[in-house]
Amino acid sequence: MSELLGAVRIVLCRPSHPGNIGAAARAMKTMGLGDLRLVAPERFPAPEAQWLATHAADVLEAARVHASLTEAIIDCVAVFALSARPREWSPQVLAARDAAQSALALAARGPVAFVFGSESAGLTNEELFACQHLVHIPAHPRYSSLNLAQAVQVICYELFVGAGAGVPAARSEKLATVEDVEGLYAHLEQAAVNSGFLVPGSGSKLRERWRRLFSRVPELEREEVNIVRGFLKALQPQGQKSRNK
Ligand code: SAH
Repeated sequence: MSELLGAVRIVLCRPSHPGNIGAAARAMKTMGLGDLRLVAPERFPAPEAQWLATHAADVLEAARVHASLTEAIIDCVAVFALSARPREWSPQVLAARDAAQSALALAARGPVAFVFGSESAGLTNEELFACQHLVHIPAHPRYSSLNLAQAVQVICYELFVGAGAGVPAARSEKLATVEDVEGLYAHLEQAAVNSGFLVPGSGSKLRERWRRLFSRVPELEREEVNIVRGFLKALQPQGQKSRNK
């Protein structure tokens, strides 16, 4: 897991629904984040927050409550404000993906924060002025205001993928070598001839077709080749089995 994600803070300003706080904690944990700050929440702690956090109760318990936004971001090297609406003063609005990239680049040098507004009114102008960057999550212009926790999820997802942590660990099974695959082709051909499916010298394109078929399988594994070969072997009449290893 990328250490950079540990340096990213999620700040919720004046959230009114405790359920959204819990859902935001869950959104964070699923993407490897854990630093949640609440600025003057309307009601917290609250059972609704617990219900929606489910297995992210630890993120919720570790959440720190602040009286003001300034207090919540005082030690940050960069602060990104999330807004569903365009604001006149802002020189540049970053799309969520670009903001995640910039934030990760800065996170190596100190804590960075993403600041979200309240469900009813969003961020105040004063809160926006406290931030250096304005971020928008691309959405349909007719209704571009996401639910608070869902907006948190999108940002955390972009951070997670941007940190290169988006792909689960690759399979470690051994890949089939040329020798393995050639062995399979030989085995297929023999089984086809033995069964009468392929008549030698008939000009059948069966061999080419098999090659085409298997060459389209990416990352064919040795184990998979062995399964097909084992199956072919089992289909053969007893007397012929000894000829195929
Ligand atoms: N009614 C509020 C929006 C509330 S949504 C308003 O008009 O501003 C709660 C918070 O989620 C917003 O303050 C913002 O921080 C975030 N959010 C929701 N949709 C967003 C979007 N499309 N882009 C960026 N942030 C968004």
